[in-house]
Amino acid sequence: MTVSALDALPPLRDVIARYQLMARKALGQHFLCDLNLTQRIADYAGDLTGCTVFEIGPGPGGLTRALLGTAATKVIVIEKDERCLGALADIKAASGDRLEVIVGDALKVDLTTLAAAPRAIVANLPYNVGTELLLNWLHQIDAYNSMTLMFQAEVADRLAAKPGSKAFGRLSVIAQFCCNVRRVMDLPAAAFTPPPKVNSAVVHLTPRTDRPSDIDIKLLEKVTMAAFGQRRKMLRSSLKPLGGEELLKRAGINPELRAENLSVTEFETLARLIKS
Ligand code: SAM
Repeated sequence: MTVSALDALPPLRDVIARYQLMARKALGQHFLCDLNLTQRIADYAGDLTGCTVFEIGPGPGGLTRALLGTAATKVIVIEKDERCLGALADIKAASGDRLEVIVGDALKVDLTTLAAAPRAIVANLPYNVGTELLLNWLHQIDAYNSMTLMFQAEVADRLAAKPGSKAFGRLSVIAQFCCNVRRVMDLPAAAFTPPPKVNSAVVHLTPRTDRPSDIDIKLLEKVTMAAFGQRRKMLRSSLKPLGGEELLKRAGINPELRAENLSVTEFETLARLIKS
């Protein structure tokens, strides 16, 4: 069917009332009821022509509707809360075969087995598992053209943080090793029903085309875990188990620096040296 059938669906507040979708904290449920906002998130995903788009946690389906309005070939949604199935069935009735609804825990699903490339992920993620889901996807980053994801503002800060800043840490290095990271939109807590305690932000991630091919995310995880595990210590001490001063000398890095002072490129150099 057509986009106009989607336009004829009832307002999201009516959908939430009809299916009695009282938000459950344990599922990180904070719904976006403003279709202008969900449209903007879908727009930030860029050109989705030919892609299968995965949405984790569609809830009542505001973002799902916007995604079905894009040029994506297919939209696959994975929702843990069965109460949302009625709302999603109504959207499917208006959009036909382009929407596939899966009930389950997204942490247990390997998205790459569900559809061939090109793939993209667009989601307003449940806060309690957002970082864990992202790390899973970063391990297979070449499987995706892009990821457009809503997080708590604090997680978005960490993803995009630059060296020397308080927010710069493991997540910053791992994400920026894998991807170009762009924070594209900030949303106040009041944009959600019910409002969470903190503000949110949308981050657009695309795989880095200049990512070094001789090292991998696992090596970066090893180095950053040691370095940031004791982030207030000098690197000569925190990196002792991986080679300490000798390793830092070979990397041309001042052993008196702390993890937060190194660039992503310097972490890559360390990863390369511990590999050899
Ligand atoms: N996309 C909707 C929106 O923007 O209004 C809802 C977003 S809400 C922040 C997160 C959604 O993820 C909820 O619908 C929740 O039930 C779902 N969810 C929570 N944990 C999940 C999991 N492990 N796997 C799949 N969905 C999950």
